[in-house]
Amino acid sequence: LPNRRFFISEINRTLIKNGQLQPCSMFFIDLDKFKEVNDTLGHAVGDKLLKVIAGRLNVILKSRDLICRFGGDEFVVVVPGMADINKCSQIAEVMIQQLNRPVEVDHHSITIGASIGISCAPNDGKTAEDLLQHTDVALYDAKARGRGTYTFYSEELGDTIKLRRELEIDLKRALEEETLEVHFQPLVNLKTCGINTCEALVRWNHPSYGDVSPESFIKIAEESGFIEKLGEYVLRNAMLQCASWPKNVRVAVNVSSVQFVRSDVFSTISRLLDEIGLEPHRLEVEVTETVMLKSFDDAIFTLNQLSDLGVKISLDDFGTGFSSLSYLHQLPLDKVKIDRSFIKNGIADSRSYMLLKGVVELTKSLGLNVVLEGIETEEQLSQISRTIKIDEVQGFLFSRPLPAHDIRTLLGKAQDQLPGAAEGQTL
Ligand code: C2E
Ligand code: CA
Ligand code: CA
Repeated sequence: LPNRRFFISEINRTLIKNGQLQPCSMFFIDLDKFKEVNDTLGHAVGDKLLKVIAGRLNVILKSRDLICRFGGDEFVVVVPGMADINKCSQIAEVMIQQLNRPVEVDHHSITIGASIGISCAPNDGKTAEDLLQHTDVALYDAKARGRGTYTFYSEELGDTIKLRRELEIDLKRALEEETLEVHFQPLVNLKTCGINTCEALVRWNHPSYGDVSPESFIKIAEESGFIEKLGEYVLRNAMLQCASWPKNVRVAVNVSSVQFVRSDVFSTISRLLDEIGLEPHRLEVEVTETVMLKSFDDAIFTLNQLSDLGVKISLDDFGTGFSSLSYLHQLPLDKVKIDRSFIKNGIADSRSYMLLKGVVELTKSLGLNVVLEGIETEEQLSQISRTIKIDEVQGFLFSRPLPAHDIRTLLGKAQDQLPGAAEGQTL
């Protein structure tokens, strides 16, 4: 197959008339698991695999179609004279199906899979370079949507991906320049009306877009491979702050499931605890059940190591996703945090009330502490706390997440001055 430069000149030579690309469709094909094959089975096997893949693509295509190996595991195909969405979809589906079939190389049976980006001239680009760039954008989306699929380029997609890439670069810079902030939200103990835990929540104030929601930039960090760095940054800052708080207050830090897969969370945490001189029981790690879905054995192993060290573990956002009850006794948990969605729509109807009550009772009967998230009104608090035995509550009623300085002031205050505390005392 021809290489990149030859390919671009070939497209220009055969398809450009009067400076404009003639109708054609471009497919950007990226093999999903090629790196793993190279890393585990070696380059010789990787090379043979690429030959088989190229052969399969050649069989699908007609002789006037152009095909090129574009990079390590990327192929680009141009089909002249065709810009029909249905036909393009058919071709993409056949390619994906063919590249999903196992390949036999040196007695290994390898299933590789592929993602495809598609764009069509002249609508999506009038030069080979434009079309290539847009096909690449479409590929980016196909990969982000979970691989083994295809995406057509559109202008909106182009804008979204452009913004996404811009945010990725800016977030990397914010991390290097240490301009991300960590805020803290207190959890209020309903028995004592005091605060024993504050949750660390990362904040990013973008120079042009203002505050970006952590949900979106955490996802970017996870997908772009710097969640380990971001996670360590938050852990370090949160622990440093906690070291300056009263001794009976611990800090809870969200640890992304991707961090568990990509890095050694246990060594990072134990190193930071040592460095900062914080006692392990003053750190609480918040994980969601996706940690179990991503790598069950590794996650249990790491969480047990942390728990043995004395670090507290809580299961976050319980009640969303699968909420498998078996996780409650397979993980070394201290706390379960019940997701805000349970009370967001009110617990006025008896079914949601019974559901919440049931989940809390079950969790308590396993000896775990229960936190209810997202309490915003006095009414919600009194409605729940009258009949349901919850240990801690967290929500805007008590306090929004606050900058480090303000949380220190709040922790220094007499705890009965907390908003909502008077209500708590009457429980
Ligand atoms: P989460 O772990 O469930 O954190 C609680 C979220 O609920 C926070 O949103 C908090 O501001 C919000 N919240 C608290 N009380 C109330 C309330 O009464 N009403 C409403 N409507 N919301 C309330 P935030 O800070 O936007 O964070 C969103 C999510 O982003 C977090 O959900 C967590 O999953 C993730 N996140 C935040 N910081 C970090 C971090 O440092 N690392 C990781 N891995 N994830 C983080
Ligand atoms: Ca959390
Ligand atoms: Ca939560």
